[in-house]
Amino acid sequence: MRVLVIGANGKVGQHIVKKLYDSEHEPVAMVRDTDQVPQFEELGVSVVLGDLDKDIESAYYGIDAVLFAAGSGPHTGADKTVIIDQEGAIKAIKQAQQFGVKRFIMLSTMGANHPESGPEGFRHYLFAKHRADEYLKDSGLNYTIVRPGILTNEPGTGKISLAEQLDENGTVPREDVAETMVYLLSVPRAEHGSFDLLSGQQQLGEVLSY
Ligand code: NAP
Repeated sequence: MRVLVIGANGKVGQHIVKKLYDSEHEPVAMVRDTDQVPQFEELGVSVVLGDLDKDIESAYYGIDAVLFAAGSGPHTGADKTVIIDQEGAIKAIKQAQQFGVKRFIMLSTMGANHPESGPEGFRHYLFAKHRADEYLKDSGLNYTIVRPGILTNEPGTGKISLAEQLDENGTVPREDVAETMVYLLSVPRAEHGSFDLLSGQQQLGEVLSY
């Protein structure tokens, strides 16, 4: 499949592009700045320009699947969280509906399925993620939502814990998050499913495979 990576220049997004490139799929990196183009072109990866604040329709031509890994980050205000993490994600979902995209994998966050229980300063972020996730569930798209714990820059281990609900907190390397998202693209049991994700003891390539 030709897979549009939204947030391709991000720390998870860059891992996603590389994992897709090494898979049977073909990545298309969506970035919002021309300075970010050469690093992908040097790898032989197609690039499209797109800003979630604006019209992103042109990024979707010829796309079969979308991996959404964008986010406004922890250093912006609550307004940007709503504009990017919620409304930007919803815009990406609407475009996917319009273009008949076959698969949509959302990078969400642990706690987004019960935002009211989150810590006070974090709740607006969890609600923004929650609204985007709920929109995706109701979209009719063939979706999977991945809700990781705290992300680290450690190298991936390929050992994860993935379940509809994990009753613990923890961390997971960004590389393992990326690999999980790419892996789940082709796993039928992940379709129309939402999963918490942490480092763990399950071998990534065997999760949900039987
Ligand atoms: P990151 O490095 O900040 O990547 C976010 C990406 O989103 C960047 O490439 C950024 O583009 C892009 N982006 C921001 N605004 C955009 C816009 N208007 N249009 C298009 N793209 C835009 O974050 P990360 O570490 O990869 O994490 C990805 C996501 O995981 C986070 O946003 C968060 O929602 C989620 N998450 C994080 C944690 C955690 O512990 N940090 C835990 C669970 C889930 P630029 O490169 O141009 O800035």
